[in-house]
Amino acid sequence: MSAPEGQVLILDGGAIVTMDAHRSEYASGHVVITGNRITAVGAGPAPASAAAAGDSVRRIDGSGCLVTPGLVNTHHHLYQWATRGMAADATLFEWLTELYPVWAAMDAEMVQAAATGALGWLARTGCTTTMDHHYVFPRAGGDVLGATISAAADVGLRFHPTRGSMDLGASSGGLPPDAVVESRDEILAATQAAIEEFHDPSPDSMLRIGVAPCSPFSVTGALMAEAAELARRAGVRMHTHLAETADETQYCAERFGCTPVQYVESLGWLGDDVWLAHGVHLDDAAIASLAATGTGVAHCPSSNGRLGAGVCRVPDLLAAGVPVGLGVDGAASQEASSLVSEVRQAALTARAAGGPRALSVRRALELATIGGASLLGWQDQIGSVEPGKLADIAVWRLDRLPHAGIADPVAALVLGSPPPLELLLVNGRPVVEHDRLVTVDEDAAAAAAQAVSARLAGHVTAERARAGQ
Ligand SMILES: [Zn+2]
Repeated sequence: MSAPEGQVLILDGGAIVTMDAHRSEYASGHVVITGNRITAVGAGPAPASAAAAGDSVRRIDGSGCLVTPGLVNTHHHLYQWATRGMAADATLFEWLTELYPVWAAMDAEMVQAAATGALGWLARTGCTTTMDHHYVFPRAGGDVLGATISAAADVGLRFHPTRGSMDLGASSGGLPPDAVVESRDEILAATQAAIEEFHDPSPDSMLRIGVAPCSPFSVTGALMAEAAELARRAGVRMHTHLAETADETQYCAERFGCTPVQYVESLGWLGDDVWLAHGVHLDDAAIASLAATGTGVAHCPSSNGRLGAGVCRVPDLLAAGVPVGLGVDGAASQEASSLVSEVRQAALTARAAGGPRALSVRRALELATIGGASLLGWQDQIGSVEPGKLADIAVWRLDRLPHAGIADPVAALVLGSPPPLELLLVNGRPVVEHDRLVTVDEDAAAAAAQAVSARLAGHVTAERARAGQ
């Protein structure tokens, strides 16, 4: 869905951070939007002629606000919104082992409610485009991928779901229980079908599909290699978890005799059409391989902190020329799931490890905007505020108690409290106004997600009773 073609929206009086090629900023400027595209950006008020082009004109007073590109989230598992707060003090492998059986009980209806909650909160925290990595496909679960797509259409976000998968169950030396894995043939057929049904490569696209086997310890090498061939035949992007924890490094050393990056390189999984979630445990040789191949990294600092996974070497990645974006990661390992807060977390994490100049506030915001767009291969259409691009824009209110008086609006956004959103536009259409969702009923979404959590908690209790635990 988008704004009507003849509708003009004129935003005047706010500070603007464009993230264009020159990184232009305006202390007070204007943005003009016609239909779903940005048609003018500049200093001072919009020219009087801007209003003449449209059948209807809406004016928005941006004074006291900061205008940025809509934020782009490059790693998430939306369904996890309904399984937050479990295994709260565990390692990744412990956390996964506790949660796999819970996720196995989720069906399409539950996934849709959970995804609506997660997407709604992403929008409320400045996100206009998100990816999703769904890799649990219970046999009796119905169309769970379709459920996430339906939820994204309801909330109104631009969406890049990836068809995830697991084919390496515990009986074959993998981490997940056999009940949540599929066969390689089933996975490849379902992935091909998802691309044919949903993938829209057009410039105005609201939905692009990617291919995403889950991780080295839940997927066979044969599936990784065949999934890469499928993705490249279809011209879609590729995503997987990699080098998240020291346990994974040890797993790859013992099973494959190499590092995680060497392992996926041997399976065709490096390239400028690939982005990897986490990339925490990378040695210098791995960073050089990612840089040489244009492989990107979705940095998820809050999740890495929550699971004690370690600190991603973001300044080293950037210095080497590796594309980097930000991800909130699944809500079960990152209960806050706030994308604007992830910008702050990225800056603070980099500085805590590497000193005060390790990541500037503007570079941190860059990761969440044009950086994320580049990771998704969407930088020609989104990620910056400039004429010709799609109208995905966040308008942050900075003149209230938490932010009023902070000297630099970018520092206010990145280092201050998460500001209220005056307006969030996706494809020229308001999704958030005055810090509330306008596309779906927030209270109903919260109640629906809570009901799913309660059903899953009941399921866990019943299963434990059956197992005599
Ligand atoms: Zn993840």
